Amino acid sequence: MSVSEFELIDRYFGRGGRRRDDVLIGIGDDGAVLRPRPGHELVLVTDTIVAGVHFPATMTAVDVGYRALAVNLSDLAAMGAEPAWCSLALTVPQADEAWLQGFADGLLGLAERFDMQLVGGDTTRGPLTVTVAAHGWVPAGQSLRRAGAGAGDGVYVSGSLGDAAAGLRVVVGATECDADSMSALTRRFLRPEPRVALGQFLRGIASSAIDVSDGLAADLRHVLDASGRGAEVHLARLPISASLRACERGDAAIERALGGGDDYELCFTVPPGRESALGAWRAQDGVPLTRIGTVVERPGLRFVEAGGMVVDRHVAGYAHF
Ligand code: ADP
Ligand code: MG
Repeated sequence: MSVSEFELIDRYFGRGGRRRDDVLIGIGDDGAVLRPRPGHELVLVTDTIVAGVHFPATMTAVDVGYRALAVNLSDLAAMGAEPAWCSLALTVPQADEAWLQGFADGLLGLAERFDMQLVGGDTTRGPLTVTVAAHGWVPAGQSLRRAGAGAGDGVYVSGSLGDAAAGLRVVVGATECDADSMSALTRRFLRPEPRVALGQFLRGIASSAIDVSDGLAADLRHVLDASGRGAEVHLARLPISASLRACERGDAAIERALGGGDDYELCFTVPPGRESALGAWRAQDGVPLTRIGTVVERPGLRFVEAGGMVVDRHVAGYAHF
């Protein structure tokens, strides 16, 4: 790598987000040297986003940088982990300084907010592709898993569902409604809020957890498969925001809530004896938690209509292949 390219890395990424005292060597050597935390286990997650596949090619550099880290923070949240370090493999078509500045601001701004330090990476030329690996800590034995849901457990989701999918439709010009709703939905797509504090709160409470990246139906099925259980979800209980209701009529809003990706909310299950513990979260000014259904013995995900009828509803989540 040429000197000027290294200067570029240093200029835009050298500040590395939050300075952490468990980083002995960060950006600038052949590898990062990091201090483990006694009594804890390390959670490692990796996510790649590709222009034109995971986000519209027209997305601004700041939004791309934000998203690249946010999707990884969401995975750490789903594991119940406390964010610590990340690395960045960046492939860009050219060294556009304004773009790099915006990208670094989006990524490192979010890193700082979650006490995370960027400790290394790689920079190459090619079609815009961003891979972030993120590391976080959980107290030994306390990570949240997909497996563990038991019959009778409540099925919960945080926040509201379907907003990001509708926001993407607003961004690409496929949906129009009132200006306030359009900007709220757009924001939900462009600035997903990883539920990091909630994930840590759920340690010792949730019996399973996943983040909703491909749509509730697809992601809840992963939990049910891993747990060897089924679930009944009440369609009338799905948390649907006023903005989504304003922009997508009736059934379309439910379709977005079940099948739309990119919300980055948490879906988790809680045994009956521990549900009261969720009150402590509700008492904070936290994101709302909604019980949408119940885990059952019989495998499969079933939906219950408002009248109590169990319906078979095919919902396709996002699938790459
Ligand atoms: P090497 O040739 O040894 O792989 P590089 O020249 O690729 O080293 O990288 C030099 C230093 O800059 C390393 O510490 C590496 O981790 C860091 N680095 C490279 N690209 C990035 C990036 N996009 N973000 C953060 N750190 C980076
Ligand atoms: Mg390298």
